[in-house]
Amino acid sequence: MAKKKNTQAAVEWDYSPSPESTSHIELKSKYDLYIDGKFVKPSSGKYFASYNPATEEKLADVAYANEKDVDKAVKAARKAYTNVWSKMEASERAKYIFRIARIMQERSRELAVVETLDAGKTIRESRDVDVPLACNHFFYYAGWADKLDYAFPNRKVEPLGVAGQIIPWNFPLLMAAWKIAPALAAGNTVVIKPAETTPLTALILAEIIHEAGLPPGVVNIITGYGDTGAAIVNHDDVDKIAFTGSTAVGKIIQKAIAGTGKKATLELGGKSANIIMDDAPIDQAVEGIINGIFFNQGHVCCAGSRLFVQEAVVDIVVKKLKRRMDTLILGDPLDKNTDIGAINSKEQLAVINKYIKIGIDEGAEMYQGKCVIPEKGYYCPPTIFTDVAQSSTIVQEEIFGPVLTIQTFRTVDEVIQKANNTPYGLAAGVWTDKGSRIFNLTTKLRAGVIWANTYNKFDPTSPFGGYKESGFGREGGLHGLSAYVKLK
Ligand code: ADP
Repeated sequence: MAKKKNTQAAVEWDYSPSPESTSHIELKSKYDLYIDGKFVKPSSGKYFASYNPATEEKLADVAYANEKDVDKAVKAARKAYTNVWSKMEASERAKYIFRIARIMQERSRELAVVETLDAGKTIRESRDVDVPLACNHFFYYAGWADKLDYAFPNRKVEPLGVAGQIIPWNFPLLMAAWKIAPALAAGNTVVIKPAETTPLTALILAEIIHEAGLPPGVVNIITGYGDTGAAIVNHDDVDKIAFTGSTAVGKIIQKAIAGTGKKATLELGGKSANIIMDDAPIDQAVEGIINGIFFNQGHVCCAGSRLFVQEAVVDIVVKKLKRRMDTLILGDPLDKNTDIGAINSKEQLAVINKYIKIGIDEGAEMYQGKCVIPEKGYYCPPTIFTDVAQSSTIVQEEIFGPVLTIQTFRTVDEVIQKANNTPYGLAAGVWTDKGSRIFNLTTKLRAGVIWANTYNKFDPTSPFGGYKESGFGREGGLHGLSAYVKLK
């Protein structure tokens, strides 16, 4: 720690820089598609660049897959499904999945640094949350692979076939793990596409899968934009679509597969309520609010982006929240002290700034944490809005950034009504000292996941998914496995 200022009143301290080294990372300048166990050039010959949003520097070029490449990948996945993977002893399948998990652990430092470089998320989060959780998903589902008859007793369990999977940019490696691990454990083969702004850890995962010796075609990893995703969705020989992303694209996908017989799970947007009752432990709740909305720059589909505080404690909660916001360190995501990293892309920063302007124009009162914004890169300070109405645009629409709206309530019935008054239904948080209040609220809130006296806690054993426009189907736990099997 370095001494910053020495006034008569107090000594203020500042953290010295503590950047994670990148010297052990060797990114290639160009990445190809991983199809049928080989790295192959895209048939169009086109590549696109992936940038570091914290510095705006180019990291690498990645292949742009078109319909032909998607067809190649689906054919490889079908062949691997029919000839190898669905016929293999389940205990052998488990070994491969365990092997992926172990190699991921061995390369965890590299994965964490590349995730931070490509996505802009802090190294603390990629190192301590994303990568370990991603490994745990493979470990967890490896354990189920040869126990499917116990997972679904008295049923005949069969895989679905070829799974087409499309993932977003907020948790790139973790989302790949959520998708690939249960699909493989249940005996399916996979064609997966990471988001265009964050393809790099998925491509390292392709190397890991290759090193684990998976039979060619069992996992195919292809990169591209929305049209590549659409080609996966529309391919005739895909049996299941698993998508995580925006509600707008989720709706397009649902229309596209209607009547085709393809199975689907859709994990879409959210506008989750975080509810602070007057008997809540205030300091803990403030940490929960911070974690709920500022974790991963608010790029979290289940972010606690609508705060509801019981009227009696609103002044103290907002005061403490502002004070805590001023201590948050924004800046270089590779620095181990950083709390708030970079916004994932220029486009997303523009979306967030658009909503901040709407909030101000609609008459809400804004407060932003006192942060120094770096000159290069895409950053947004932690932002809260008070004086908002249930009808305010920033209360109704998902922002996907570090922006919180704060409303008050008097009674439990009132907060249930307000919390449920949203097109979404992904998650919610409740902070109170009383178990009975927790049970009352958890039964009445229309949300797939409800945390009590905590927020944003994830575990591979625990199902995750939404209601209403937040999508359908569950990932994680046995529910996540059931999304990849036919039960007879
Ligand atoms: P966001 O708004 O968070 O960027 P998107 O829903 O646009 O989320 O993107 C999530 C994923 O969906 C990305 O991998 C993206 O390339 C892909 N995608 C975008 N449009 C389509 C589409 N029409 N069909 C299939 N996938 C798509």
